[in-house]
Amino acid sequence: MRYRKIPEETVRRLPVYLQGALHLSRRGGESTSSKELADLIGVEPWQIRKDFSYFGDFGTRGVGYSLGSLIGRINKILRLDTGHKAALVGVGNLGSALLAFPGFRVYGFEIVAAFDIDKRKIGRRKAGVLIEETTSLGRLSARGIHLGIIAVPETASQDIADALVKAGVRGILSFAPRRIVVPRGVKVITIDIAMDLARLPYYVAAG
Ligand code: NAD
Repeated sequence: MRYRKIPEETVRRLPVYLQGALHLSRRGGESTSSKELADLIGVEPWQIRKDFSYFGDFGTRGVGYSLGSLIGRINKILRLDTGHKAALVGVGNLGSALLAFPGFRVYGFEIVAAFDIDKRKIGRRKAGVLIEETTSLGRLSARGIHLGIIAVPETASQDIADALVKAGVRGILSFAPRRIVVPRGVKVITIDIAMDLARLPYYVAAG
């Protein structure tokens, strides 16, 4: 099924809707309303209805949205219905925590390969994943890996992004606090926790 182009902000909210719908479904629910979902996830009901209108009207007035259908459609739009293999580069403090984090599986992600330059780490396993030498990033696409996660120091992050792209990766999640430049057709999402924290005091009233 093809969907008309969905705005970036709506795409950002889709995983939140998915999380809410999965929660309601796990609680035994079969359908939901924009009001119920809005109360659960903290978004306005009109916003939910507007966002859902981008992928067709599948709600029924008075009955609401079927949770099965909602979960199925969001998974399809986000391409989460096929499962995704990811490679992690940098198995330090953060990388180790990411490897052990079970939450990726909820969305069908699996970190199947890990790389580092530290000789003491190479050849060992972390959370069941073998740590390989970064020089053997090779062609990750031949291993069915199209996503990369960067958890190396900031100074190494651009080189690692370049190597990941060369290895066939098309989507990168980077935790290094710096802008990463990639060719057209490759998507980078940077998570800069400190920068998010830096916005927080602005909202906190001086006491
Ligand atoms: P760390 O020093 O514990 O780990 C970095 C790992 O990367 C080490 O294992 C190191 O050997 C490896 N490495 C270095 N250069 C490499 C290269 N060229 N190729 C492959 N591996 C290489 O650092 P960390 O605390 O895990 O942080 C990693 C990144 O995540 C940093 O950019 C940091 O700013 C960011 N970050 C960390 C945290 C955190 O809580 N630790 C939080 C937010 C962001």
